[in-house]
Amino acid sequence: MSSFISSMSSSKPHPPPQNFRNLHRERMEAENGDNGSNTPSASLPPNTYIAPDMPAEKPGPNWLRMVCISDTHNMTDINNYSIPEADILVHAGDFTKMGTTAQVDQFICWMKSLTHIPLKIIVAGNHDVILDKEFYEKNWFRFHTAQEDHQAAVEKLQSAGHGIVYLDNSSYTVDGAKVLYKKWQKQAKLELKQKTLQEIHAEGAAAADGIESVDPREGWIEGYRIWASPWQPEFYEWAFNEVRGKLHEIWKHIPVDTDILITHGPPKGHGDIVPQDNNIHVGCRELLERLKVVRPLYHVFGHIHEGYGVSQIDWRPIATQDGENPGSSTVCINASACNINYRPLNKPIIVDLPPK
Ligand code: 5GP
Ligand code: MN
Ligand code: MN
Repeated sequence: MSSFISSMSSSKPHPPPQNFRNLHRERMEAENGDNGSNTPSASLPPNTYIAPDMPAEKPGPNWLRMVCISDTHNMTDINNYSIPEADILVHAGDFTKMGTTAQVDQFICWMKSLTHIPLKIIVAGNHDVILDKEFYEKNWFRFHTAQEDHQAAVEKLQSAGHGIVYLDNSSYTVDGAKVLYKKWQKQAKLELKQKTLQEIHAEGAAAADGIESVDPREGWIEGYRIWASPWQPEFYEWAFNEVRGKLHEIWKHIPVDTDILITHGPPKGHGDIVPQDNNIHVGCRELLERLKVVRPLYHVFGHIHEGYGVSQIDWRPIATQDGENPGSSTVCINASACNINYRPLNKPIIVDLPPK
């Protein structure tokens, strides 16, 4: 955990109400009384779809298909929650019910079974308690009957293979290009193997050399910059919680050239309405402030299950230190798979990304 995080995650003043955890548990375990899925936005931005209503093919060669999910809470066996074929999967946190090692294992198993997606970018959420070292050491007994091994759980995710990239709270960036480059190399090597010796001879040594010398930013893998964080504004003392008003200490680390931002929670005003709490917007104000500056192409999040859907922010041109930042837009994707009753009834959201 980096120092700026550890210095902020000091003891929290208010213990959660005794019945809060039970409330969540009851919702997870209830078999009846379901609300159904949330209604996604009526009109979606270009190249954005709700599965399974996407074209079979991507718009053109070298495009990337990204499938966004969040808040699966180990519930995806229900209804056989299915994930369409894509180049990248993004999971924006809350992949377990209550963050036990067994639940992390179950999630990894599910990710491994998605052999039709070569790269899976995973960030934790407040339910994935074992992954927040400092929080778990102080609070494990509120969630688990016996203390489990934080480090072992992190390592399981980090070494899972099968294209799983876990972004913990100390490594905020992933060079998407680099990861995809590895995939490209593998593919190219495979193709080379399948060629006859005669064909290789005809093409000359350049064909083989090319594999190592290709710039990851020149091929179909064009580098989209991805940045992810599990942190969110405090709500009843869960993992990766920070008090409102202090989160700018985290968001200031979002690089200004981020293309795809992944956070567990929403920014203020987008996919963040809680109907059961007087329809208030509970998203993070400081995250919205940072969004105004960074203006990523996509912001993928979850956490507020009721906020499932897609919206678009159109930015006006602003003056910056480096001159005028032209008008652009950010597509906000609340990808919560589970509805408020923890039923996985909201379908994955799909985006086709053009070659960059
Ligand atoms: P989770 O426990 O899975 O993180 O969040 C589940 C639900 O808790 C959300 O869908 C939302 O109803 C509620 N919730 C989460 N965070 C907040 C918050 O900051 N404020 C309010 N009012 N409700 C929240
Ligand atoms: Mn959740
Ligand atoms: Mn959450």
